[in-house]
Amino acid sequence: MAIRKIARIGTPVLRKKVRELSPSEITSEETKKLLHDMFDTLEDYEGIGLAAPQIYESIALAIIHYPQNEDPKIVFNPKISVLDETLQGFWEGCLSVPELRGFVERPRKVRIDYLDETARAKSIVVEGFPATVFQHELDHLFGVLYIDRIKNVPGGTPLCFTEEYARYHLPEEKGGETPESMDD
Ligand code: ZN
Repeated sequence: MAIRKIARIGTPVLRKKVRELSPSEITSEETKKLLHDMFDTLEDYEGIGLAAPQIYESIALAIIHYPQNEDPKIVFNPKISVLDETLQGFWEGCLSVPELRGFVERPRKVRIDYLDETARAKSIVVEGFPATVFQHELDHLFGVLYIDRIKNVPGGTPLCFTEEYARYHLPEEKGGETPESMDD
């Protein structure tokens, strides 16, 4: 087990489309070891999700640990379907784009069909903030970063440093457990 170095924006691997894994690759010892490293890395960086390209592995694998009181999801070869196109906006952050926050709008409800760590077909429907987390992670498998999706907000600033985000853009009222920003 090891904490891996995270690729930062500018590193070519972050812009490559990944390759899918076969069921025997998914259940291999090598992949198990990689998963251990991904969880160690995610924990060390205090993120809520991590995609394999972020640790220089160009394969269709992401882990999502949100909500953090639930078991993390391990997602291989995912396919995403939009169930509700209504856009919702959140401030996003990314371990590969450190020290920044950007406001991104994404569909509010999606279904993800994927293989789990035993290579069994699974499906999950997520909405609200978790839908944004999954879409952000799966974007990494297609070489897309959240900064590609930032749109100008009228009268606002859609991209800022974390310090200025906390100072000027963090909502005063935090609704329950729903975070207003994320790092993954
Ligand atoms: Zn990210």
